[in-house]
Amino acid sequence: MKVAIIGAGVSGLSCAHALELHGIHPTIFEERHTVGELYHHVGALLQLIYRPIKEPLTHIRKNYKLHLAPLAPLLSIEMNTVNRTRTVHGNLGWLFKRGQDQGTLENQLASQVKSRIIFNTHAKFDELQDEFDYIVVATGNNKQPTDQMGNAEPILQTWVRGSVVLGNFDPNKLIMWTNTNYMKSGYAYLTPFSRERASLILIVPNTTKEELEYYWNLFLDLEKLNYHVVDQWEEDHTANYVYPKQVGKVIFVGTCGGFLDPFLGFGQFSAIASGNLAAKSIITNQPFDEVAQELGDIIKSSIAIRERIDTLNNTHYDILVTLLGNPIVSKLVYGTNINYMGHTATILNAIQKHFPLKPK
Ligand SMILES: Cc1cc2nc3c(=O)[nH]c(=O)nc-3n(C[C@H](O)[C@H](O)[C@H](O)COP(=O)(O)OP(=O)(O)OC[C@H]3O[C@@H](n4cnc5c(N)ncnc54)[C@H](O)[C@@H]3O)c2cc1C
Repeated sequence: MKVAIIGAGVSGLSCAHALELHGIHPTIFEERHTVGELYHHVGALLQLIYRPIKEPLTHIRKNYKLHLAPLAPLLSIEMNTVNRTRTVHGNLGWLFKRGQDQGTLENQLASQVKSRIIFNTHAKFDELQDEFDYIVVATGNNKQPTDQMGNAEPILQTWVRGSVVLGNFDPNKLIMWTNTNYMKSGYAYLTPFSRERASLILIVPNTTKEELEYYWNLFLDLEKLNYHVVDQWEEDHTANYVYPKQVGKVIFVGTCGGFLDPFLGFGQFSAIASGNLAAKSIITNQPFDEVAQELGDIIKSSIAIRERIDTLNNTHYDILVTLLGNPIVSKLVYGTNINYMGHTATILNAIQKHFPLKPK
């Protein structure tokens, strides 16, 4: 069987690895000269998003036979709103280095893939249809393939400002900020590379590149952050609802297949999982939309959360963070296997009902 994979990112490489386990060696096309995102940052793999899967890293090792070494375990999350700071502790997930350096998530995946990657090649699925039995489109944030297929609808359109900053950090701690004045319904977060270096990212929905500069400066100002910035970049990022995810011999995975959760804009786990599910669909000849339904349902609950989050104001965030910081609630959320994603939209709804303040 001849399979083409467009994109040697997280989902494309995961798909290639899964196909190889079944004796299929795909041809992988990558438009960059090497594997990995152009900018350095640290991505979090949170334990709590993919319930009933409680330990995504163990799930990846056991089910997908991929061995991934995180930068560090994530042992605390500090949540800051305008009037509250709360920190939760526990085995909350893992931190992964992203980018083109050694040890990044993408490079770890590439080292476990034997198939040939054809670099510096911008591939198009329609031009590969005659030569291949299946084409897996794993182009990440490149929306051109779904625009051409007409199977995607935007859920969350954001501009992201990322930076590498120097300072004094806890290597096992993620810090989050929410304040609708500078991030609308988005958020900002800091994830450390080490004790001295961290990535600081601001995500602002429904804005422009020009406005982003204003929001970034306001964020640093209001939060009194004066880190030394050594690298800075920006990118527009969209979470789409994609259906169908398979059209004939073309299968859409990862961000471009709609496997990016629009709640936080996270998608490392679902990129790996969707790549593996695409391989399963190809090997078993089952429709991809059926094989990936459970994963798609998890993303759907995060679409419902996003719809609620878009209407929250700073008082709602204060209440939410107070709730999440409560030791009993945090034990229930982080210490049990409850599928809290399925209930979060309802909880947000209840908060808004009791505190019906006008959204800003
Ligand atoms: C700033 C930022 C921070 C993030 N933080 C987190 C986080 O903390 N936790 C988390 O879980 N997720 C996070 N994410 C999301 C996560 O990075 C993505 O979910 C994941 O990388 C998606 O994998 P993918 O395979 O779909 O795309 P990618 O990993 O982006 O791979 C796509 C690949 O396709 C290539 N490509 C595109 N078009 C073509 C073409 N036509 N021909 C050939 N090659 C092509 C690209 O060059 C790229 O290598 C973050 C994303 C961003 C932007």
